[in-house]
Amino acid sequence: PPALPTAVDNAFLRAWPLPVTPSDGDKEVRGHVLILGGSAEMPGAVILAATAALRAGAGKLTIATGASVAQLVALAIPEARVISLRENKEGGFTRDATAELNPLADRVNAILIGPGMQDEAATAALVRALLPRLDGTSVVLDACAMGIILNPDLAPQQPPFRFDLPVIVTPHAGEMAHLTGAPKDDVLAEPDLHAARAARQWNAVVALKGARTVIAAPAQAMWSHEGGNVGLAISGSGDTLAGIVAGLAARGATLEQAACWGVALHARAGDKLAERFGTLGYLAREIPHEIPALMESIA
Ligand code: AMP
Ligand code: MG
Repeated sequence: PPALPTAVDNAFLRAWPLPVTPSDGDKEVRGHVLILGGSAEMPGAVILAATAALRAGAGKLTIATGASVAQLVALAIPEARVISLRENKEGGFTRDATAELNPLADRVNAILIGPGMQDEAATAALVRALLPRLDGTSVVLDACAMGIILNPDLAPQQPPFRFDLPVIVTPHAGEMAHLTGAPKDDVLAEPDLHAARAARQWNAVVALKGARTVIAAPAQAMWSHEGGNVGLAISGSGDTLAGIVAGLAARGATLEQAACWGVALHARAGDKLAERFGTLGYLAREIPHEIPALMESIA
């Protein structure tokens, strides 16, 4: 059985402060995030993640999204550079997107792939082509982009997929079940076990999300966070978490630290919003705005 996870609370976070941004720093120093995602049906996911990455303090943001929505994304996030990618019929990006992304890949500090993407097979092919290009970049995979783990190119008897660079994946219980083949009820019954096993197998940091979120690192360390409220169970909520984690990683946090801080900030943002609006009915787009003040009040 896995060791008991360390509880992520105020004292814990204070003892693990986020990297200090020098007061005379420029936007490069504050970190560059690339977000790859969005599709005709879900352009909002990338907008939510992008807002969250900036609110987590990243200095520079590039969004790579589908041609059909690139203009509206650019209007929604005027701070971003927006790269427009050709889309296939299923709403996925074609492999030649790598040509557009390669020159950027080794210049950004963190890359988030997945929000609002639709075609799991095309996304897996794109992620597989992109990962070897990344050097020293923290990678956050959410939603559809986690499908690379299913590795459809490999025969079932081959060993499971392993990452060979710093990656965090952020599944909820249903996605974890999809990725591992375990029944969702098993994941819900023993989240620590499932997170720890997946982290070891995939060589990735795994944040298994829920009312209680478990964060497991490949080298056995585990953390858990309990808090927030059911108002966070809303469309787009996970996109904001992924954006916060990517923003913190771009600022120089390790993926483990970005996960612990990100999960706590996301939950507290939910609590602030619940105080203001009530528990049910605040919006995912409102979560990012709470983050800057919360980062200062915890630190
Ligand atoms: P997703 O399902 O990808 O949109 O992610 C939902 C986010 O909301 C995750 O960060 C969960 O941890 C969080 N969340 C969902 N339900 C609850 C809940 N009942 N209490 C607290 N946080 C929750
Ligand atoms: Mg999600």
